[in-house]
Amino acid sequence: MDLYLGIDFGTSGARGMVIDEEACCIQAQVRYPFQDSPNAVTPNFWQEALFVLVEQIPHQLRRQIKAIAINGTSSTVLLVDAAGNPTDAPLLYNDARGSLVLEHLRSIAPPNHTVLSATSSLAKLLWMRQQPSFSEARYFLHQADWLAFLLHGQLGISDYHNALKLGYDVEELKYPEWLENLQIPIQLPKVLSPGTPIAELRPEIADKFGFRRDCLVCAGTTDSIAAFLASGAKLPGEAVTSLGSTLVVKLLSRTRQEDARYGIYSHRLGDLWLTGGASNTGGAVLKQFFTNAELESLSREIDASIASELDYYPLLKAGDRFPINDPNLPPRLSPRPDNPVEFLHGLLESIARIEARGYELLQQMGADKLSRVYTAGGGAANETWTAIRARHLQVPVVASVYTEAAYGTALLAMGGRIKGEQE
Ligand code: ADP
Repeated sequence: MDLYLGIDFGTSGARGMVIDEEACCIQAQVRYPFQDSPNAVTPNFWQEALFVLVEQIPHQLRRQIKAIAINGTSSTVLLVDAAGNPTDAPLLYNDARGSLVLEHLRSIAPPNHTVLSATSSLAKLLWMRQQPSFSEARYFLHQADWLAFLLHGQLGISDYHNALKLGYDVEELKYPEWLENLQIPIQLPKVLSPGTPIAELRPEIADKFGFRRDCLVCAGTTDSIAAFLASGAKLPGEAVTSLGSTLVVKLLSRTRQEDARYGIYSHRLGDLWLTGGASNTGGAVLKQFFTNAELESLSREIDASIASELDYYPLLKAGDRFPINDPNLPPRLSPRPDNPVEFLHGLLESIARIEARGYELLQQMGADKLSRVYTAGGGAANETWTAIRARHLQVPVVASVYTEAAYGTALLAMGGRIKGEQE
């Protein structure tokens, strides 16, 4: 049987999943938690994590793996020399040192472009250019690109999900002129469609770990796109809401939406677009008031068919971008009823209103009409909340089929997901 391996490098750990071609069933699952290790930010540590993950996969399965893909955290980037050795520490997804070059970037990139953020890959590259070690570097890579390089040995290759925040034009499938004109003396990655086979495993890697010599390594993706691929959403109008610490919505659409004012941008997914935005509201605010056990027990006492009149905007601190763009938007959490069931009802209802407003905004901007919402994250298991959300969204709300990014990346290695949309 042919098997496919997806490897996820997330924020809190790495994970691998082996699936089969027939039913996309999970044949093996392996993990490598980072446990707040300060080393978790070094490429050496990533390499160790990658190889330890692979070694946990049973030998007889390894021999059947036909293709591998890797996802990394979006905008985690590094510079490497001609041999692929890192020339300096990587900059992680949330590193905001790029704010020092934002002013300069604004004078180069088109207004409201996705790269105009302190944490974008391009802002990081421009910051890196000012560092002394830059002269030793030959290639600029994303985390997923470098990890895949360790397996296939080719430098300077990326995918159009990772490359979006570098400024790559995913509509025209080329670097835009304004970016070429920067003449950064470094090799920007050649950008492939996620899931495209790049090369066979390096023979020494195949032999060391007992893989087939003809096992292919494919272009990867980012962790959040991988989670979307795992969800089960496939058709235009289908969406995934992530109800974790924050609220993130992603809607599959035939049209592309971009508006940096609302933090709205679209990833390409075959011939479709994955359009979405992220709000600062979400589970982190619930956590401020309730334990997970309380969230479960109190939710059971809420009548989801009745709308709470409490109209909150739950935030940990002032400011939101999507669906309301106001850096000073104050948290609204009053009046607070004495009864915790009523208070929680108001919070869940209000977050559901913000979610619905988010999808409404995407549709107003031209995205396909919402038809079904898959849900991932800590809030997905809350049936009361699901019922409240379905009342607002007016479409079926279901749990994601799989929530693990590694599963989505294994589908990518299998080649079915994105190619299917192009057919
Ligand atoms: P993260 O975005 O940090 O990965 P998770 O997806 O793990 O978050 O979800 C954690 C969040 O889910 C917490 O903020 C918590 O308040 C929320 N949560 C946990 N259980 C429930 C529940 N039963 N109902 C609603 N929210 C919940």
